[in-house]
Amino acid sequence: MFGHGHKAQKGTTVKLESSLRDTQQASSIILNAIEDGVMLIDKNGVIQLFNPGASKITGWPENEARNLDFRSVIKLVDAKGEAYTPDQDPLTQIFKNPNETIRDNKGFLVTRGNQQVPISISVSPLISTDQTLTGVVAIFRDVTKERMEEKQRSEFISTASHEMRTPVAAIEGYLALAMNDKVSTIDSRAKNYLEKAHESTQHLGQLFQDLLTSAKAEDGRLISHPELMELGSYIEQLCNDLKFAADKKGLALEFNIGNSQTIDATKSAVGGQKVVKPLYYSRADPERMREVITNLFDNAVKYTDQGKITIGMTGDNQIVQIYIKDTGVGIPEEDIPHLFQKFYRVDNSATRTIGGTGLGLYICRKILELYQGRIWVESEMGKGSTFFINLPRLSTEQAQKEKLNITSANISAAPTPLTGSMVQ
Ligand code: ADP
Repeated sequence: MFGHGHKAQKGTTVKLESSLRDTQQASSIILNAIEDGVMLIDKNGVIQLFNPGASKITGWPENEARNLDFRSVIKLVDAKGEAYTPDQDPLTQIFKNPNETIRDNKGFLVTRGNQQVPISISVSPLISTDQTLTGVVAIFRDVTKERMEEKQRSEFISTASHEMRTPVAAIEGYLALAMNDKVSTIDSRAKNYLEKAHESTQHLGQLFQDLLTSAKAEDGRLISHPELMELGSYIEQLCNDLKFAADKKGLALEFNIGNSQTIDATKSAVGGQKVVKPLYYSRADPERMREVITNLFDNAVKYTDQGKITIGMTGDNQIVQIYIKDTGVGIPEEDIPHLFQKFYRVDNSATRTIGGTGLGLYICRKILELYQGRIWVESEMGKGSTFFINLPRLSTEQAQKEKLNITSANISAAPTPLTGSMVQ
């Protein structure tokens, strides 16, 4: 009896030990077998584990990478070959802000042999029970094939939409001629059909234009000339141009700057009254920003039957926040997470009758990403929606310094259309 029990106990211990060993063995078999690079970094930034996948991608043998600082081994650059800034680098970020997994799938890793490999990387913090950071796990993979396919796809879309724009423009032109009673004689029924055809051609033209822009945004060919902008005066000016479209639909347009001030979009531009406003400096391309704001504004007009549209700005030391608020149909909660994806349109009676490509918000997101910006929406059905944009803010001192640098470098060709209208 005793003998049997003893035997059983010994058996359990052996089993336990061997199962532990099995688990360790299984983990190391998996780590050795997977193609993905897996790396464990301790809280001091020193590499503790470096699997064969990581060696294959980076060109660093495991025994050399281990015990080195991760910065010596994992060097990331952008599509132009410029080193990631600490703000862009997911590994540097996770040590600063160890809250959640950070992913990046746009960068390139510079291998030991100085080759650039497109990678997708995700880094997760390891948090101990007392909530302190004990280390970081990084998983990365070579995405050469995926990026190549993506590039081919977007090249195809670019070429196709570019080629198709020309005949569409020709059709649009001829339809306009056919509808012009100084040039052509047609009966009213035919005119009605032609007007419908003209509308559809315009829609098609817009679709090709949006496709071209989104394909460019995807492979980093979107032209952007960021410059110092004072967004307050810029948007105030823009509101002035946008006012007509709101008027046409019988909607009011209001411009809000700072946390409390409300300025009527018409009066502030024409009246020239002096109001002390905070200065909201950031770096972006004014043309691209016009595209974003106009797009959000056009949507606000499109999806609002009555009431008003408010364009406003607030900010703190870090960010400038722009918002575009409407009193329109609202967006169902379940659609919100998908809204900034390509071709996504809410499917309901309101949107079915309103033309659109479903590319506008996607393009907005892509443009804002160029300036480390962010866009999101809050909405209530039947009450309206508010689209928010956050951009990194430059302090007035930083902005003045930058302005001085530009002047002293004497870049007279640099476009500075905003300085004239800047509110001091
Ligand atoms: P579209 O060309 O269809 O307007 P967008 O990408 O600009 O494409 O917008 C995507 C979808 O988001 C729209 O089809 C619409 O359903 C919804 N949407 C965008 N803006 C608003 C808004 N201000 N109010 C209600 N719905 C909106």
